[in-house]
Amino acid sequence: MKMDGQATDLRIAIVGAGMGGLACALALAKKGFKHIDVFEMASDLGFVGAGIQLAPNLVRILTRLGCWDSIDGESTDVLEASIRVTASEDGASNQELTHVTMNNIRKKYGYPHCTGHRASLAGGLYEACKRESSITWHFGCTFEGIDQFVPKPTISVKPRNGDAYQIQCDILLAGDGVKSRARTQLLARIGAPGVVEDTGQAAYRIMLPREKMLADPEIAELINGNQVTRWIGEKRHWIAYPVAGKTIYNMSSTQPDTHFAAAPTATYTTKGSKKDMLDVFSDFCPLIQRMLDMVPDGEVCEWKLRVHKPLPTWVYGTIALLGDACHPTLPHLNQGAALAIEDAAVLAEVLSRAPDTTTKTINKCLKVYELLRKDRTTTLVDLAASSGRTLHLGEGQAKAERDKLFMAAKQSGKDVPDKWASPDVQEMIYSHDCMKIAGERFDELYQGLDSEG
Ligand SMILES: Cc1cc2nc3c(=O)[nH]c(=O)nc-3n(C[C@H](O)[C@H](O)[C@H](O)COP(=O)(O)OP(=O)(O)OC[C@H]3O[C@@H](n4cnc5c(N)ncnc54)[C@H](O)[C@@H]3O)c2cc1C
Repeated sequence: MKMDGQATDLRIAIVGAGMGGLACALALAKKGFKHIDVFEMASDLGFVGAGIQLAPNLVRILTRLGCWDSIDGESTDVLEASIRVTASEDGASNQELTHVTMNNIRKKYGYPHCTGHRASLAGGLYEACKRESSITWHFGCTFEGIDQFVPKPTISVKPRNGDAYQIQCDILLAGDGVKSRARTQLLARIGAPGVVEDTGQAAYRIMLPREKMLADPEIAELINGNQVTRWIGEKRHWIAYPVAGKTIYNMSSTQPDTHFAAAPTATYTTKGSKKDMLDVFSDFCPLIQRMLDMVPDGEVCEWKLRVHKPLPTWVYGTIALLGDACHPTLPHLNQGAALAIEDAAVLAEVLSRAPDTTTKTINKCLKVYELLRKDRTTTLVDLAASSGRTLHLGEGQAKAERDKLFMAAKQSGKDVPDKWASPDVQEMIYSHDCMKIAGERFDELYQGLDSEG
């Protein structure tokens, strides 16, 4: 079926104004696409939630999209990482297993590794989007489902205070997160099972205000530093770093999901109990105990960590999934949002190269996107899971060997068992320039495809 006009005239509907959806709208607008509609069920961005690590592969894209400077103003450079063991038999350990210097990251990759606030990342993307007249926002508008897949996607959306209505578009990009409705429908359409996996793990998130921390010299050092610190114990850990110009210390954990925590909300504010949290970490070192005790009752968040079995495809017709909708990950590599934003940047690269506007051509472009992204996302999702298993080892030979590797890494500066902090893994993740690769490989991948339409 032939569509009239240029690719940039195509009508694009984006579901979800999360990290992937926002970046997708911005990247497409920057490429000159003129008709971009974003449907988000929340009434505003409301990303009050948590801290986030902004790795060089993410900062590279934000810089090119012209929104890094505003985010950078509130972010903190990460110059070192410290992995510590806790929960020793005498309960007193805060022993450093390894220390990784990261002060060369900016020079090596051309972009820094920072920590920031989720609200700052979402806000920076949104402010940049608002400068693009081609993007129309539909907040408080829930995507209810895909009514027609081909030749042109037709979806139903329901405004909070109004009746549901249908819209038709040329391209549908679904960034509706880990509980994606679009994914469920797409898989049903091809007869594939949709299997959300409960990882058996949950995460607490707490945020400590700077003023409270300053009274304790050992804790003050953490908020004043440029360090990401991870404390590990059997089946559990905490990772922590300063955010919001060092006014807040962000701490998030992983532990067995014994309280059957709720799935994350869009704002990452699902409530947890302070008493339960203190019980779960009662054998962690006194430093951790003192910090956990600082959080006021009612300000503990806990949510379930969920992933999904790998999908047979992310694309159907002119519909594509992105971000957590197609490759949700455990947080142990701190790359979930970065991967969603990489997807968005690659989508804009491939769609802007569409040689014509037929549905067949758009389908092929979306398949090129999937080809460009699948190995990378699968590798990182698997690595995050295996790194988590290593971090959470209990007493025994495997743990003893792991700890030897941690100690050796202190000298050699490589092969750190906590893959997030390992310079060799960082090189693989951070040097990947997804936009450049998309540009270089588009023609070859496009030619190699036979569209199923
Ligand atoms: C504990 C933890 C720590 C993390 N730390 C990091 C980190 O340091 N670095 C990092 O890069 N990543 C991190 N992540 C991962 C990251 O937050 C996610 O991978 C990322 O937010 C995924 O982006 P997304 O756009 O795919 O989905 P989301 O950001 O979840 O956005 C989905 C959006 O779709 C909307 N939506 C859903 N359904 C509908 C519907 N039916 N209609 C309309 N709108 C809908 C939602 O309201 C939401 O706004 C962490 C995750 C966890 C759990």
